[in-house]
This record gives sequence, C-alpha cells and structure tokens, in this order.
Amino acid sequence: MFERSREEYERACQYLPGGVNSPARSFSSVREEPVFIERAEGSKVYDIDGNEYIDFVSSWGPMLFGHCQEDVIEAVSEQLDKGTSFGAPTIVETEMAEEIADLIPTVDRVRMVNSGTEATMSAVRLARGYTGRDKIIKFTGNYHGHGDSFLIKAGSGPATLGLPDSPGVPEDLASLTISVPYNDEEAIQKVFEKEGDDIAAVILEPVAANMGVVPPQPGFLEFLRRITSEEGAVLIFDEVMTGFRVAAGGAQEYYEVEPDLTCLGKIIGAGFPVGAFGGKAEIMDEVAPKGPVYQAGTLSGNPLAMTAGLEMMKLIQQEGVYEELKNKSDYLREGMEELKREIDLPLSINQVGSLLSLFFTDERVVDYETATSSDTELYAEYFQNMLRGGIYIAPSQFEAMFVSAAHSREELDETLEVMEASLKELE
Ligand SMILES: *Cc1c(COP(=O)(O)O)cnc(C)c1O
Repeated sequence: MFERSREEYERACQYLPGGVNSPARSFSSVREEPVFIERAEGSKVYDIDGNEYIDFVSSWGPMLFGHCQEDVIEAVSEQLDKGTSFGAPTIVETEMAEEIADLIPTVDRVRMVNSGTEATMSAVRLARGYTGRDKIIKFTGNYHGHGDSFLIKAGSGPATLGLPDSPGVPEDLASLTISVPYNDEEAIQKVFEKEGDDIAAVILEPVAANMGVVPPQPGFLEFLRRITSEEGAVLIFDEVMTGFRVAAGGAQEYYEVEPDLTCLGKIIGAGFPVGAFGGKAEIMDEVAPKGPVYQAGTLSGNPLAMTAGLEMMKLIQQEGVYEELKNKSDYLREGMEELKREIDLPLSINQVGSLLSLFFTDERVVDYETATSSDTELYAEYFQNMLRGGIYIAPSQFEAMFVSAAHSREELDETLEVMEASLKELE
C-alpha cells in the first residue's frame, strides 16, 4: 500500500534530517513512515502510491476551504504572470492589511512576515522594546513556533517528540521565559506578584491547539486581560491557528477579549508561507522603520502570498461560512460522542469551532498535564488504522483535527465509519 512512499522516505532520509522539513510531518511518534503526497483537491489528498485520503490535517490549518480552492488558484495564476517578488511596495499588501484591520478590530497596523514563527518572535521583541522589560510568560503545552524563547515546555512537535527543551537554546535566554500551566490563574498571579515589574508580555494560544485542542476555561482570557493591563504587560494572542478559523475575527471575536498584539499565520496565507503580527497603533509604531524595534524580511508581503491571502479574506467573509463549519464540526463531534458511549476505551473529546481532538484518556483535558495523560500507544494504533482506512489525521495525539468547508456530509459519515472500525480494533 505504501511501497513508493517507503522508497522515497529512505531516499529523503539521506538528504533531509529525519527525511522531512518539519518534525510534525514525521510519523515516528505513531510508529510509521510518512506517506508522500502527490496532489490534493478539495477535502482529499492523494499519495504517490495512488492512495486517496479524506484529509483532516489541512496542511496544519490553512486549507479552510479545502485544497486547490479555485478563486485562490485563479488569482495566484494571474499574479504569477506579473512577477513573483519585487522587494518594493505593492498595493495588494495595503489591501491585505486593510482587510485584517477590518476583520480584527484590535489590529490598527500590521506587519507581514513569512511564518508564524517569525510573527511570534517579532511580537515578543516588540513587546520587550515597548515595555523596556525582558521576561515573558507563556503556557506549558502552548506552541508558538520554534523561536528560542518559546522552546520551553512547548506543545506540537516538541510535545510529540518528548523534547520540552531544545539543546541550542542558551540557558540565559531560557531563564527569561516563565512557563505556567494553561488555565491556571493562580500560577500567573504568583508570577506577577514576584516579578511583575520585569514581565514584558504574556503570550498564549487563546484556544490551545498544539497539545490537542484545549479550550480556555470561562473567565481565563478575561483574567489575563485584566492582570496584564494592571501590571503594564503586553497581552499577545497567538492566533496563528485560531485566526480566521474559530471566527472571522479569531478567538478574540469568539470570546470577546481584546489583546494588545495578535499573531497570525496559516489561514492568512491560504497555503503560502505567510505570517503577520499586528495591534494597537501605539505599539506597532515602535516597529522599524517608523520606530526603533527592528524587524525585516526580503520576501515579506510577497505578492503571490498576499494575492492568495486576499482571496482567502474574501472567502471567509461569505455569508454563513462559520455556521457551516460549526455545523459540520458539531456533526462530527456528535458522531464521535456516540462512538465514545459505544466503545469500551478511555476517550475524551474536545472541540472549539472546526478544531477537534480525540484523547485516549478518561480525564477531562484542560491543560498539558491532563492532555499528556492520554495513552499515545493507543493513538498510534488508532492512527495506523485510520490511515489504512483512507482517513488522514495528524500523526500525533498532540495536534488538532481540522474540519474544512470542503468536507461533505458523506465524507464525515465515511470518516465516522472508519473511526468506529479503527477504535473497535483497539478494544
Ligand atoms: C503553527 C503555529 C505557529 C508556528 O507557525 P509556523 O508558520 O509553523 O512557523 C505558531 N503558533 C501557533 C499557535 C501555531 O499553531
């Protein structure tokens, strides 16, 4: 079934560390070798052995309307004829910024970058420059890309591979990052009591989605807003995952809590390498060349990526998009809840909008500790069964399942059938 993928993986391993360009693509934590993808369309991906899968990885989030969305492809093809990069201002960059500012009211100004990692790294530098303070608070199991300051008890790849800290991150730098449990107000209160004057920023995923999906408990985001305002720290919402996914205006619209800075990525690029950070004019005007906080990029605001992103911004503003996404995701979750009742396995389900997680634990998952109570051996076997059944989910317990507008009811039914068979084999 995977013959050609196996050969290509072996060849890739000779030239790429671990055979992949990003650890999340490795299937090592589910005791498999990765399948190589040839093409994708709508809700499906196709591998080089000719296998077809219903895709719930969605390029890790960007494909909110499925693969090869026609408006995106058409607009990018047109731009392609005009040039791929100029290193000079283009109108589409302003249009993109206008759209973002319209959709996310807390964003007056925005800087486009090339990845989510760049967005969070730059936002923290800005917060430090703006406050004149050095320390940051982050949450255990939240993932903010691979910037040095964030590889301290991080989610996603580091959680999957069991590498909470990375060699190569200097201790002096790591000591400036304070990691506290997600949803734990008391822990944050204590940090602020002790070192409030040194805290430049609190950064978090307003819905954690890199330790599996973990929603903020009621009042948690409001608490963070209040304490950061009182203490003069910058509140950064890392909405690289949640932006344009849980609502057009992201988690901050969904939960009605306003951060000072917002980081974006994934959906904003419609599958091109893009990130962005933005916020209040007062803070953003500290960014070079307007202000002294340096930030730059040869390919930032790339015309192909901006053109794709602009089409994405139009698509998400169509009538009823988020209702449809929610209905489909609710349908899937309800089916999963039914399986949970029928099947004799420890299962726990979390959902926020079109982000879902199935954990192999009896505990309600509210933070990293409860997320990691999941039986990852069971997940590995579940993953293998799903893959062979034609359902492509993340090769890790600590990633989300992404529902897109391209998933049909029939495909969701098929997914639930394969899920049922996959789980029953584990009983
Ligand atoms: C994916 C992700 C990032 C990193 O984005 P890259 O484009 O992979 O660098 C940062 N924060 C969150 C919340 C993410 O989900």
